[in-house]
Amino acid sequence: MPQFEKSLVWFRRDLRVFDHAALHHALKASRAVFCAFVFDTDILQPLLDAGLTADRRVEFIRDSIVELDRELRKLGGGLIVRHGAAADEVPALAAQLGVEAVFSNHDYEPQARQRDAKVASILAAAGRGWHSFKDQVIFEQDEILTLSGRPFSVFTPYKNAWMKRLAAADGPFFLKPYPIEKYAARLASPASEHGMIPRLAELGFQETNLHALKITPGMSGAASLLEDFLRRIDQYEDARNFPAVKGPSYLSVHLRFGTISIRTLARAAYQVLHQGAAASGAAVWLSELVWRDFYFMILYHHPHVAQRAFKPDYDAIPWESGQHAQTLFQAWSAGRTGYPLVDAAMLQLKQSGYMHNRLRMLVASFLIKDLGVDWRWGERYFAEQLNDFDLAANNGGWQWAASSGCDAQPYFRIFNPITQSEKFDTEGKFIRLYLPQLAALGNRHIHAPWLAPAKDLQDAGIRLGENYPLPLVQHDEARKLTLQRYAAVRKVTEE
Ligand code: FAD
Repeated sequence: MPQFEKSLVWFRRDLRVFDHAALHHALKASRAVFCAFVFDTDILQPLLDAGLTADRRVEFIRDSIVELDRELRKLGGGLIVRHGAAADEVPALAAQLGVEAVFSNHDYEPQARQRDAKVASILAAAGRGWHSFKDQVIFEQDEILTLSGRPFSVFTPYKNAWMKRLAAADGPFFLKPYPIEKYAARLASPASEHGMIPRLAELGFQETNLHALKITPGMSGAASLLEDFLRRIDQYEDARNFPAVKGPSYLSVHLRFGTISIRTLARAAYQVLHQGAAASGAAVWLSELVWRDFYFMILYHHPHVAQRAFKPDYDAIPWESGQHAQTLFQAWSAGRTGYPLVDAAMLQLKQSGYMHNRLRMLVASFLIKDLGVDWRWGERYFAEQLNDFDLAANNGGWQWAASSGCDAQPYFRIFNPITQSEKFDTEGKFIRLYLPQLAALGNRHIHAPWLAPAKDLQDAGIRLGENYPLPLVQHDEARKLTLQRYAAVRKVTEE
């Protein structure tokens, strides 16, 4: 017997109609289930205030919402869409519809947790329930702990415990989807709301190059990327390292907005892994999904990482400051450091909102350890630019690069931007894609043009300092400076 007459499901970063924990539980527990999404001005207004009116993520969300509404309608329901402060809109809508409970999926970000606590308390004051579920990760919060019952702070033992727990829970069974369709008759159809999805301009935003980039939002976009990736998952282990090669899945933006479920992906990898043939690619990819869970868990247990170093000693590092730091940061973000692979990566980010994982590691290391700029500046820039921006993964990636995070990596591991380029873009294909002015330079010198003979540069039409910058710093000298800078950490830890 359903427990509630009417309830409401609040969609946030889970924009799909299948394998959806909150929707499943709401349908099981209620006679009629309304579905809603709020374009949250608490999130959107700061973007508008900063003049960031062309944001691919807003367009991605809006298009995904249109598809979500269409798919809900096919099942007999529909989506109610509001534009306002979600913390006010959701309780107001709950009151308007007269629902007894609101269902949602857990969000682990500090501000979202505060927002949800506020919504839950307003609902409670009006006698309505708040029910929230694990959905966006495989294991959350305290589900994977050390033998002494504490959260892990190093990845490899966490991953081992994660894999053990999944195997013990009978992987495919544990990862099975939450059924929706069989309860679909309980979806309420908000007929008066049909066609009420605001256009981008009504939200204050402009169209972007999302479609020109062939990024297809929504569940259908995610499904076709997954299908394509599963055909090449066996090559993932090697191919994922080379930015000019189609190696990774490109699913991150879909995972960010939940147009595909993490269980679908983990199940697919787990099945390939246990079929044997393409096992190593699937094993490495599954382990990337475990990194994702890991950083959500870290953020949940250590919310201070959103502002400070995971290891407090690292807050003592004296970063570059003043105008000098600004100049370095601006050159880095504009792709004008004089190191071609770093610059090409930064242009990829600016032009597409995506950056290959190896390049994220490289440019982050370069900003922090070649330019001596505070990792938080880079973290903030990525947060503005990345389509897949996710506080937990982004912060984890930046703290990893700064060596200030929860990793066993020593601080003196510094990426060399030239050898990384020679190794992972040997033929300069990726560089040439984003820096056409270097296209005619041979493979040998394209990684460090300032070392090329004057004749080679002239023949290639390159005028260093004019149509391509001279290097902003010399890596070897920068490396030495970084080791001195990081000595601040050693001093603190030795005290
Ligand atoms: P695939 O290689 O196909 O991986 C599959 C999925 O696994 C990804 O979609 C992602 O959800 C997850 N994943 C892969 N690597 C990592 C990782 N290191 N940490 C956490 N999850 C991972 N990822 C984000 O989703 N959002 C971010 O804001 C983000 N910022 C980053 C910042 C830095 C400095 C670094 C070094 C990494 C960052 N990453 C971030 C992780 C990683 O670079 C991207 O997830 C990946 O490049 C996305 O491409 P893909 O979907 O093709 O990845």
